[in-house]
Amino acid sequence: MVELPPELEYETLLDRAYALLPESAKKPARFEMPVAVVEIHGKSTLIKNAGQIAADLRRDLNHFFKFMTREFGTTGSIEGQMIRLKGRFGPGSVQKKVQQYVRDFVLCPVCGKPDTHFIEMNGVRMLKCEACGAVSPVREI
Ligand SMILES: [Zn+2]
Repeated sequence: MVELPPELEYETLLDRAYALLPESAKKPARFEMPVAVVEIHGKSTLIKNAGQIAADLRRDLNHFFKFMTREFGTTGSIEGQMIRLKGRFGPGSVQKKVQQYVRDFVLCPVCGKPDTHFIEMNGVRMLKCEACGAVSPVREI
């Protein structure tokens, strides 16, 4: 077996190639979808970890709350880190809305990465991607 000098070893080359990648490309491409913790109390539905979901997605809890109430066509309130929705909605339907929120307001439509934030352009809200730099329109709630 031929001994390669340390600087040509596969691992070293790999490390070097990796070091040259932009920071944004190093994050795993797989996005971890937040899972809503849902409890139905009487005639209302609690999303117990709404604050954590919003924080994980780096979105404002008020924005997430507004989306949820519009989507379910109801009213509700923010109670600490929880969202209370008027009406009974099962965990499955809440989770579907979380996924829709992520699709509509978090993932970059160009590269699919979740590293995005909102910016205002001429008074219009846009989604700016930190990974690829794309600026995409984002719908109003
Ligand atoms: Zn992007």
